[in-house]
Amino acid sequence: MKGNEIRSKFLEYFEKNAHTIVESSSLVPKDDPTLLFTNAGMVQFKTVFMGEDKRDYVRAVTSQRCVRAGGKHNDLENVGYTARHHTFFEMLGNFSFGNYFKEDAIRFAWDFLTVELKIRPENLWVSIFDDDDEAYALWEKVEDLPKGRIVRMGEKDNFWAMGDTGPCGPCSEIHIDQGAAAGCGSPDCKLGCDCDRFLELWNLVFMQFNRSEDGTMTPLPKPSIDTGMGLERVAAVLQGKYNNYDSDLFLPIIKRLEKLSGKTYGEIDSVNVAMRVIADHARATTFLVADGVLPSNEGRGYVLRRIMRRAVRYGKNLGLDKPFMEDVTDAVVAAMADAYPHLLGAVTLLKKVVNNEEERFRETLEHGLLLLDEKIAQMKDGTETVIDGEFIFKLYDTFGFPFDIVRDIALEKKVGFDESGFLAAMDAQRSKSRASRKGEGVRLKDEGVKSLAEKGLKSEFTGYNSLTETVTVD
Ligand code: ATP
Ligand code: MG
Ligand code: MG
Ligand code: MG
Repeated sequence: MKGNEIRSKFLEYFEKNAHTIVESSSLVPKDDPTLLFTNAGMVQFKTVFMGEDKRDYVRAVTSQRCVRAGGKHNDLENVGYTARHHTFFEMLGNFSFGNYFKEDAIRFAWDFLTVELKIRPENLWVSIFDDDDEAYALWEKVEDLPKGRIVRMGEKDNFWAMGDTGPCGPCSEIHIDQGAAAGCGSPDCKLGCDCDRFLELWNLVFMQFNRSEDGTMTPLPKPSIDTGMGLERVAAVLQGKYNNYDSDLFLPIIKRLEKLSGKTYGEIDSVNVAMRVIADHARATTFLVADGVLPSNEGRGYVLRRIMRRAVRYGKNLGLDKPFMEDVTDAVVAAMADAYPHLLGAVTLLKKVVNNEEERFRETLEHGLLLLDEKIAQMKDGTETVIDGEFIFKLYDTFGFPFDIVRDIALEKKVGFDESGFLAAMDAQRSKSRASRKGEGVRLKDEGVKSLAEKGLKSEFTGYNSLTETVTVD
């Protein structure tokens, strides 16, 4: 089943079950300075869940465009390294606003996977939150779920909260065991292992409590449901692939890269990784620009810049010596415009932004890479084993190298890198420039962070990270 069909089938299935199809919202959350990007289907419904906003429906279904790069959910580092993570992906979700609860959420999810998509129940596993006996009992009643497949897991994976206070509740996740060949191969590999074998498909969030300032949890008068399932993961599973990037959703983009580079996907590891990263980052670039994000040196724009520059650097690994991102984003628009027609309106802007950023970065990329190569060669001759933070900062400051690029190259060349030294150097420079700007008044962004901090929401981000994030309470 093709990715496009799965998306339609999902929307139709829930529409048939009295859900209203709601359009995906923008990747830039509306009126929510606390969140960098829309990173889940529930984001556009936050105020509805909080009871601050009313809609004329109590059940909704969406295919939501999401970005997880920066902030609490940051998968940028995973792209190129796991088979299941993207920076940009589509989340299929069904929602109940005080209407149905656990029993129906479980029934719908199971029915959709095993009847509509015909995934074999023998391969499925379910996780629930530690003490959620209600969910345990409901899953036990699902006849074709084999015995022994319900696993209790802790707060990190199976408890969801909107923020330090507010709606929260246990989750239940459905995973598929893809077999030893899909994962780390360890005989101890089991659900919860970090490899790709037990693939998490669908998260069902049972919004059940309200957490107050002092941490007490009181039951919500009308519990709600929020679910999310990654379209790319389901597509790969249904197409018999162990890697999302091998699904038809990525194929046209990868094909374009094969044509541009003259290299074949699926033969050499380093080529595969480069093509996957570029394909992912081209999707993120296309959708972010279409939602009005432009490359810059802070906030959302800096995340986009990091993504674009990382893609350009991976282009070097494919031997792409001329600008190529415009061509790849073109393939993204061609592949996705049916489902997301708004992309067509952004084509002119996209071309301009992509070319401009790529040309700018290419001017310094070569030189920076040369210096980094030299540095690593020297390290291999000497006793140093870690690229020092000051040097990484120099690459950033002089050549516009986002940290991710140095990290990728260090991992490729099997040398260490001093991230905290880099962050410290970055911080020192920021303090210096802040001091020299004294008297200019507090910038808008800092003001936002400050007022949130005063409300007791804390940011874990300092230095470099604060360039890419404000405060997360998602
Ligand atoms: P994982 O543990 O695999 O990182 P998650 O627990 O962070 O996933 P959730 O926040 O539960 O993910 O999101 C709901 C669903 O969205 C996941 O079950 C998965 O199918 C999908 N998903 C999450 N992150 C990504 C991503 N970076 N790329 C593709 N799909 C994703
Ligand atoms: Mg995750
Ligand atoms: Mg998870
Ligand atoms: Mg999850």
